[in-house]
Formats: sequence, C-alpha cells, structure tokens
Amino acid sequence: MAPAYDDNNIFAKILRGEIPNDTVAQNDHALAFRDIRPQAPSHVLVIPKGRYVSYDDFAANASDAEIVGFTRLCAQVVAMEGIGPESGGQGFRAITNTGEHGVQEVPHFHLHILGGRLMGPMLS
Ligand code: C5P
Repeated sequence: MAPAYDDNNIFAKILRGEIPNDTVAQNDHALAFRDIRPQAPSHVLVIPKGRYVSYDDFAANASDAEIVGFTRLCAQVVAMEGIGPESGGQGFRAITNTGEHGVQEVPHFHLHILGGRLMGPMLS
C-alpha cells in the first residue's frame, strides 16, 4: 500500500506555485530546481509532479510515462549542468534520502544531483 501523501509538504507547495523555486528544467512529469542549500557547485533536485512520498513509492506506483519523464529530465539536468562524462564533465552523484533512516526531510520523492566538485565518502 502506498504511504499517505502530505499535500502541505514544501515541494507540493512549489509544484502548486505557492513557493518560488529556481527552476532548471521541467517536462510534463517532473520538475528540476536548484537546492536552496547547495552542497556542491551544481546541486539540483528533480521531483515528479505526481504525489509520491519516496523513491520506493514512485518506483512501485508511478506510470511508465512518469518514470520515463522523470528519468529523462535527470539526464537533461546532467547534460545542462555539464557534469556527466557524457557531456564532458568529471562526474556527479545522484542520491535520494528515504524515510527516517535515510534522513528524508521533505516527504515528496526527490533526487539530489550533485556535481562540480570531488565528493567525499558516501556514507556517514
Ligand atoms: O533530506 P532531504 O533529501 O529530504 O532534503 C531536502 C532538500 O530540500 C534539502 O537539501 C533542502 O535544502 C532542500 N530544500 C529546497 N527548497 C526548499 C526546501 C528544502 O531546496 N524550499
């Protein structure tokens, strides 16, 4: 069963246009915007436009079109930011924090795409 979605979470408000954001790109199914507390020279969040709490919720319950739209937007962000080896960059990290143990702050699925510097150890 899909977890309950909180329509008052901050990313839901961004999607409704109630809170401003620094949009990088979007398509019918997903929105990419700069993180307000960047952890790297390039730090973009990609979120589905649908109501999904977390990665496992999205992966299990989103339509094929939503999954393709989200994934293609991630690729577009990497190319636009010039951080992927495909676009001549030196690499990047893509992570999603999930639930309490993942220390997820905002309960709307989001993928962090970070690049532009050498990343430290992944786990802490
Ligand atoms: O831990 P979690 O992956 O849920 O972190 C949420 C991220 O959303 C943080 O990196 C925070 O800086 C970002 N954020 C944002 N804009 C907001 C609220 C949070 O970019 N209005």
